[in-house]
Amino acid sequence: MAQPPRLFLPGPTAVSAEVLEAQTRRLIGHRGSEISELLESVQARLRVVFQSLHRIYVSTSSATGLFEAAARSCIRERALCCVNGAFSQRWAEVVEANGKAHAILEVEWGEPILADHVDEALDQAAASGAPFDAVTVVHNETSTGVTSPVGDIAEAVRAHGKKAGEPILLLVDTVSSLGGIDVPVDRWGLDVCLTGGQKCLAIPPGLAFAAVSDRALERAARIPDRGWYFDLLVYEKYLERWQTPATPAVTLLYALDVQLDRILDEGLEARFARHHAMADHVREWALDRFDVLAPEGYRSDSVTAVLNTRKIDVGMLNRHLAGTADWVISNGYAKLRDKTFRIGHMGDHTVEECEELTGAIDRFLE
Ligand SMILES: *Cc1c(COP(=O)(O)O)cnc(C)c1O
Repeated sequence: MAQPPRLFLPGPTAVSAEVLEAQTRRLIGHRGSEISELLESVQARLRVVFQSLHRIYVSTSSATGLFEAAARSCIRERALCCVNGAFSQRWAEVVEANGKAHAILEVEWGEPILADHVDEALDQAAASGAPFDAVTVVHNETSTGVTSPVGDIAEAVRAHGKKAGEPILLLVDTVSSLGGIDVPVDRWGLDVCLTGGQKCLAIPPGLAFAAVSDRALERAARIPDRGWYFDLLVYEKYLERWQTPATPAVTLLYALDVQLDRILDEGLEARFARHHAMADHVREWALDRFDVLAPEGYRSDSVTAVLNTRKIDVGMLNRHLAGTADWVISNGYAKLRDKTFRIGHMGDHTVEECEELTGAIDRFLE
């Protein structure tokens, strides 16, 4: 099988030939014992990758589907939606579209969400008599290359929940971090930690995952109108018998099966270190020739948003890269288009590949 094209996008990322090939295994039905064995075996390894003892639901959808699941199943009265880029904004839109009351805590795109910001917003809401019962936050804003300190935010949220006498659920998007950047779900105490397969986990697009706490399920049981397809309680009912509510993307489960072994063979620590080393190289390169959007201390290990200080034509750069070695990087997202361009260094890429890529961009700059 030919080498997979090297997608240096911040998702979908390149998938190894071995994982792509796994999808050609013979198909099985989704109510038999074979699928249950597969789901049970996948579950055990997902828990290692999520660093969590919670159940991990597997959804045949993109990650955005689980924005909806979290919003509908976990927000009772009112949510605080933290926004610092395009994906966190999308989550707020999903909350709105599902008819859930919310307020937005927005910081400038390119900045992190800090625990102090959240602390202050929760204080004000409690004082005004309209408290929040859930908080949404994106761990790694792929649109800006910014990683927010979710561990600190979780502490602040937990402290407020204790004061209020009812937990404030922390719903976290780790779509472009889980599997590449350390996300200790249980140590941080996350209630919903959702991710997609096509980013740091490096399987083909189409599966999403969520680690869900007992508290979140207890909350869901008291919320009417959760829908069905993305109802966490429906997921739970089927997971208990090692099934999914509806037909899963069986071929993607095969890919996941192989890739989870590859991830655990590498080891989580080694995987995080490799992502950090790739990011280090790309950041240094970018700081030398351009600038980096994210402030120091909050720069993502899985995607770098390079400030386009030289005003290069990103379309032309991508045509050059495609001609060089079938590589592609990403333009800036939404309002950051052309002002930034993004290099995804996530999944199974190596430092050497990143060096080759930045070398090819250097030749374009000359
Ligand atoms: C890619 C991405 C999403 C959206 O994921 P889909 O699988 O396209 O629905 C959401 N949040 C973040 C941080 C992402 O990087």
